[in-house]
Amino acid sequence: MKNKEIPNDYGLSVWGANNFAIIDGKVCVNKGSKPAILDIVNEIRTDGYRGPLLLRFPHLVKSQIYKLYNAFNKARKEYKYSGGFQAVFPLKVNQFPGFVDILIDEGEKYGYGLEAGSKAELILAMAYNKDDAPITVNGFKDEEMISLGFIAREMGHDITLTIEGLGELETILDMQRKTQDPMPNVGIRIRLHTAGIGIWGKSGGINAKFGLTSTELMRAVQLLKEAKQLNKLNMIHFHIGSQMEDIAPLKRALREAGNIYAELRKMGASNLKAINLGGGLAVEYSQDVRDKSASYSLQEVANDVVFLLKSICENKGVDEPEIFTESGRFIAASHAVLIAPVLELFTQEYTEKALDLKENGANPPLVSELYDLYRTINEKNAAEYLHDSLDHMESLLTLFDLGYIDLQDRSNTEVLVHLIIRKALDTAAHLSERDRLQQRIQEKYLVNFSLFQSLPDYWGLGQEFPIMPLDRLDKKPARSASLWDITCDSDGEITFKTKRPLFLHDVDLTEQNYFLAFFLVGAYQEVLGMRHNLFSHPTEATITIDEDGYKIAGLKPAASLLDILDDIDYDITDVQMQLKKRIERSELIPVEKRQDVLAELYLYLSENGYLKTTRLV
Ligand SMILES: *Cc1c(COP(=O)(O)O)cnc(C)c1O
Repeated sequence: MKNKEIPNDYGLSVWGANNFAIIDGKVCVNKGSKPAILDIVNEIRTDGYRGPLLLRFPHLVKSQIYKLYNAFNKARKEYKYSGGFQAVFPLKVNQFPGFVDILIDEGEKYGYGLEAGSKAELILAMAYNKDDAPITVNGFKDEEMISLGFIAREMGHDITLTIEGLGELETILDMQRKTQDPMPNVGIRIRLHTAGIGIWGKSGGINAKFGLTSTELMRAVQLLKEAKQLNKLNMIHFHIGSQMEDIAPLKRALREAGNIYAELRKMGASNLKAINLGGGLAVEYSQDVRDKSASYSLQEVANDVVFLLKSICENKGVDEPEIFTESGRFIAASHAVLIAPVLELFTQEYTEKALDLKENGANPPLVSELYDLYRTINEKNAAEYLHDSLDHMESLLTLFDLGYIDLQDRSNTEVLVHLIIRKALDTAAHLSERDRLQQRIQEKYLVNFSLFQSLPDYWGLGQEFPIMPLDRLDKKPARSASLWDITCDSDGEITFKTKRPLFLHDVDLTEQNYFLAFFLVGAYQEVLGMRHNLFSHPTEATITIDEDGYKIAGLKPAASLLDILDDIDYDITDVQMQLKKRIERSELIPVEKRQDVLAELYLYLSENGYLKTTRLV
């Protein structure tokens, strides 16, 4: 098996970062005993959990944190850079406890901290951040949020409030004057004239939503000086946007920030010691080497950042600053994999079995001709026969509209044309219109998940995620596929794209389950997920792996129907009472059966809303 050619690796070598491997036709986690994801999924399902599953792999959080620190520390050593390196995780990327627990554990030995952008996130940071790790606070702040910052400082946290405007700074200074409490550190977000790029690149640039202009910067220094708190200014910050495709905008921003840093130091900000580059390190989501998301490596970024800052500081004669980063997507994306069962294939009925030709020459002549084309199509005549059959279909559909042929004829037409296209694709490798034809005969796979809940960035931004089946990877997938989720929304579809086609296997779901895995869903998707149609966060589990095997922990079932209704503020006691009343007054349910019906209904209320039907046990 080892050296056998893999028919389709779904771009694993492009996006997989060696985190997964295909062994004996199955996707396996490339760690320790290399368990097949399918085995893990089956074990969880045996306990009765159906519907989509979100699997978390702590070792993938650990390795990303290691990669980040290692790259920057290596660069610092190589360039003999005297400033330090620190990092925080931006909580907005994933605040779920199943992830944050792992993050805090794995980050401890590096002093990896947290970044908060709202009051709720700040509370999380205040509760769980380790003592020696920094907290930074970005985003707009009111008095109460600033007051939380003061409390965090008094609790002993190393906290920096990054101000987004002069008003925030004034509030901080007023509060300090009034309370005489120890001040948190102050960071300043600078407004760069260099803009970010890409679909997320709205965070930089002169019209950006965030940051102080140079005039405001000078005013901020003056305000801090007047309050005798200039020594609290410890960081300048920028963030050029997420999923940076290319390193050039970061370098431009860094030149700007480096010079601002040097100027502020010269103006007397002697404790200003850090430049915070924000986040933006890209994740490779592409399943095709021809359209890779990012054109750089992490080591390249680290080297460029260190080298650039070193040269600016040499030029301006100031100390080299600590390099501070806030990359979130890079840390969180790979740790989570969503697994969803395929429930149904929609065009599978287009097989020869579905043909219902009429006896004794009763078929319309064009249908008979289609049948002949189907029987005799071969490599040589494929293109010609194919075009003939498409012509015939047009004519037959017109005949149907005019009332000359019946539904049975029309059905035979559809089936025959479908079969002809498939045969043409199978026999003639060089058909010029392959892509268009694949599109035409695509199979619709109904998948037990909600795209709105689990892949909101696909819906909102067209962000692609790597998709592959969990098994059968030693067999060539021949079906051009589009995926339907189980919401009632036509947007809940991942369409077949001729440029980046998805091929899946022809499966008989009465014989075997077929699971699709969506990778790199650990960043942003969970909390952005919407409860469209009232589908909730899927059942999740944390999987640890060593040489001996794997362990399943932290199993959290998806919310029950009642919990979902409770969450959007229904009075669930009332919901239950209404249901009970209706059962009790129904004349269709015999009195002696009412209790059973009610019990059955209550059982459903305690389960989640995803579909259960799998034809297999
Ligand atoms: C969102 C955000 C980040 C994280 O960006 P990633 O692209 O996930 O690395 C970092 N810093 C700030 C200020 C942000 O708003």
